[in-house]
Amino acid sequence: MENFIFQNPTKILFGKGMEEQAGTEVRAYGDKVLLHYGGGSIRRTGLYDRIVASLRRAGVDIVELAGVQPNPRLSLVRQGIQLCRERGIGFILAAGGGSVIDSAKAIAMGVPYAGDVWDFFSGKAELKEALQVGTVLTIPAAGSEASTASVITNEDGWYKRGFNSELIYPRFSILNPELAFTLPKYQMACGASDIMAHIMERYFTNTREVDFTDRLCEATLKTIIQNAPLLAAEPDHYAAWAEVMWAGTVAHNNLLNTGRTGDWGSHDIEHELSAAYDVAHGAGLAVIFPAWMKYVYRHDLARFAQYAVRVWNVDCSFGSPERTALEGIKRLESFYRSLGLPTRLNELQIPEEKLEEMADKCTAGDRQTIGNFVKLRRADVLAIYRLALK
Ligand code: NAP
Ligand code: FE
Repeated sequence: MENFIFQNPTKILFGKGMEEQAGTEVRAYGDKVLLHYGGGSIRRTGLYDRIVASLRRAGVDIVELAGVQPNPRLSLVRQGIQLCRERGIGFILAAGGGSVIDSAKAIAMGVPYAGDVWDFFSGKAELKEALQVGTVLTIPAAGSEASTASVITNEDGWYKRGFNSELIYPRFSILNPELAFTLPKYQMACGASDIMAHIMERYFTNTREVDFTDRLCEATLKTIIQNAPLLAAEPDHYAAWAEVMWAGTVAHNNLLNTGRTGDWGSHDIEHELSAAYDVAHGAGLAVIFPAWMKYVYRHDLARFAQYAVRVWNVDCSFGSPERTALEGIKRLESFYRSLGLPTRLNELQIPEEKLEEMADKCTAGDRQTIGNFVKLRRADVLAIYRLALK
C-alpha cells in the first residue's frame, strides 16, 4: 500500500426530502447564490420549486443560470463567470447531474482568476482559489457531487478535458434517491456504467498489497450489478436507488483509491467519443472499458482473474487464469447489454475513418502516454478503438 492522505470535506445530506435543507445549507456561506441547472428536468419534476422555496425561506437571493447541456460547454461556463462577477456572487448551487455540477465547478474556478478558465483544463494554470459550490444531485453517475474533478468541453476544436483540485470539492451535496425516479432508463444505465468505470479505473492498479481497497471496490461494483437491473424493471424502487446513489458517490469520492494509484486511461479514451459525437459518457465507457480490458489483461492476469472470480462469480475451476479473466470481461459486456447499453463503436454510429483523429487528439499536447496500469501511446489507443469497433 502507498502512503496517503484522505480528507473528503463534502458534507452529505442523504434521504427523502433532504432538498428542503438546501436553503439553510447555502445560507451558511452567504445570502446570494447562483442557481445553476440544465435543460429543464428539475422544472418538470417540481424540484426547482422546492429548491427556490427553501432558498427564499432562508433569506437567500437567487440569480439563475439554466441551460447546461450534457457534456457541459465552455461557452456557458464563461457566461456564468461573468454573471457571478457582475452580481457579486460567492456561492453556486448546482441542481442536476455531473454536467451541471462540473459546469458549476468550472464557473467557481474562473471567477477569481484573471485569465481564461480554459487555462486550468489545458494545464496552463494552477488553481489557487475558487468560489464554493453545493449540489442537489438528480442522477447517480458521475460522482462529481463529492469529487475533485470537473470535465468541460471546449467547442473551439471540440476538446473535452478534465481538471482536478481539492479546491473544488463541493461543500455539501444533497442526495435524495427519490429525485432519480424520473430518469429515463437509458440515463440510469449510463449512470450505472459510469459508476462501475470509476471503480474499475481504481481497481486495475500496479500497487501491491491493497486487499482492503480491492474488497471495497468489489463490494461497490456488486452493489451496482445487483441493483441496476431492479431499477430497469421498477424505476421508483427507492431502496435500489438508495443503494446505487450512495455507491455512486463512494465510487468517486477518493476512498476507493486510498493507498493505490488508479488507471484512468479508459476515461481519457472515452472523452474523445463524447467530445466528437456528444455520446453520453456512460454509454461511451460501456464501449471502451471492455476493449481496454481485452488490450491490457495480460499485463496482470492474476488481477483480472481475481476480478472475474470475486465480482462476476466466475467459478475458480473455470479453467486457466486467462480463460477466467476473459470470462470476467465477457460477463461485464453481457451486463452492459442487459441494461440496453452499446458495447461497440458501430452502435454509436462512429465510423472507422474517425479513429485515427480521435487517437491523435487523445494523445495530443503533453499527453505522450495515458493511463497508469499500462501506459498507452497513440498506437495503443488506436488499437483499443479498433477493438471496440464491431
Ligand atoms: P448529465 O449529463 O448531468 O445528465 C444527463 C441527462 O439526464 C440530462 O439530459 C439531464 O437533463 C437528465 N437528467 C438528470 N437528472 C434527471 C432526472 N432526475 N430526471 C430526468 N432527467 C434527468 O449526466 P451525468 O452522467 O451525471 O454527467 C455526465 C457528465 O459528467 C459528463 O460530461 C462526464 O464526462 C462528467 N463526469 C464528471 C466526473 C467528475 O468527477 N466531475 C466524473 C465522471 C464523469 P437536464 O439537463 O434537463 O437536467
Ligand atoms: Fe466518469
